[in-house]
Amino acid sequence: MSSYGRPLIVNDRLTTRCFDLQRVPAPVSGSLARVKDLHGRQSPARQRRTVPASVATVTDERSSAGVGAEGAADDAADADSLVDGRLATLGEATQAASELVDASERIVVLTGAGISTDSRIPDYRGPQGVWTRNPEAEKQATLQNYLADPEVRRRAWRNRLDSPIWAAEPNRGHFTLTQLEARRKLHLLITQNVDGLHQLAGSNPDKVVEVHGTVREVGCMSCTYLVPMQKVLDRVRLGEDDPECPDCSGILKSATISFGQSLVAEDLHRAQLAAEACDLLLAVGSTLAVYPIANAVPIAKSTGSAVVIVNGSPTEMDELGDVVVRGSISDVLPLIV
Ligand SMILES: [Zn+2]
Repeated sequence: MSSYGRPLIVNDRLTTRCFDLQRVPAPVSGSLARVKDLHGRQSPARQRRTVPASVATVTDERSSAGVGAEGAADDAADADSLVDGRLATLGEATQAASELVDASERIVVLTGAGISTDSRIPDYRGPQGVWTRNPEAEKQATLQNYLADPEVRRRAWRNRLDSPIWAAEPNRGHFTLTQLEARRKLHLLITQNVDGLHQLAGSNPDKVVEVHGTVREVGCMSCTYLVPMQKVLDRVRLGEDDPECPDCSGILKSATISFGQSLVAEDLHRAQLAAEACDLLLAVGSTLAVYPIANAVPIAKSTGSAVVIVNGSPTEMDELGDVVVRGSISDVLPLIV
């Protein structure tokens, strides 16, 4: 716990306090930049940056890290991955990432929605994400609304009945990550996803931390009742539009973490310790914009770990990546792991 006192992460540690699941602005001039300063090596891309931090967007990040003043615009489409902060082709980046995996013994994997989009589960914050296109839906998904409004709960149960998650199957990305266990390199798999596809792919449940919970279970908001989701969906199919807890008549909800709901302290503590202890942090399919869990990246970096980021689009922490691989997760992950 002593590392909690490190000045660079004292306000950003993996805590359940205050900013659970809140989106915060891109850390262009915040704590992450200071973490980089600690190591005394800013990426060339960052040094070239001329976009004022206050107006920088993800798109700006990409363009400023992309071609800059070098006149390399023609190469940009083929070379928007990064190795040690320099532009690299996809092939160069996957090779560099693969070498880091080979050289590592305690790998922490952090996965986000992007790894499940090839299983046809919509992501929320990507360019075509549910909440990107409809910010109102994000606001409605709060615990407060769910508890206060029976109509919100009825709608939620109807949506759960039709969720694409029940038919979804793990894809090559999920299966590839199980290889890290076979190679005895996986320290912990932290996922922001609630779809349970890592376990379905064969990942050891003891090595998976679902920081945002799981849709595959239902819990009571007033007691410890916890059952598989399908058991409650059967009741909904039989006509209960807002099923209540059979033990205490409390409100039932999927065992996911809603907006306004605290994360599980024990899960965050495990994630924090793992991020501090790993020798490689591999972030896959996350825009690294959801805190506090995104802080696993600067925490790992500040303790000397290598960082590899694999995502289809730029993330908010690309500047912390030793290697940033920008491509289809299902395609590139088998080349890396
Ligand atoms: Zn109950």
